[in-house]
Amino acid sequence: MEMLNKDEEYRCRRCGKNEQENGGELHSLADLYWCEDHRHLGELLLWAGNHQFPAIKIVGIDQNYAIGAPNGPDNAYLWERGVFQGSEDMVWSTLSTVMSLSENKDEESA
Ligand SMILES: [Zn+2]
Repeated sequence: MEMLNKDEEYRCRRCGKNEQENGGELHSLADLYWCEDHRHLGELLLWAGNHQFPAIKIVGIDQNYAIGAPNGPDNAYLWERGVFQGSEDMVWSTLSTVMSLSENKDEESA
C-alpha cells in the first residue's frame, strides 16, 4: 500500500501554520502535523488509514464528492489530496460522513 509522506517540517499540513511560533501546539496525527484548527483533518486521515483508505461517496452542501475507487491503488494519495486541499464543504462533509459510518454498528465485518 502507498504510504503517507511523513512531515519533514513542523507546520500544519493544511494551512502551513507553525503553532510553536505563537506559543501554540501542533498535533501529530497520521504521521503529519496539524494545528488546533485543523486537528480534525488529521483525525480524518487517521480514520482513513485505519480503514485501508476506503472508497467513499460524500453528500456535501454545495455538491457531492467521492474519494477513491474500490480497491483503487491511489486511494491513499486521493485521501491525502482531499484532506490537504479539499474545500471546506468537502472536508466537513467527509468528516460527517465518516462519523455516521463509524456510528453505524452494522458496519460490515472485514
Ligand atoms: Zn492548520
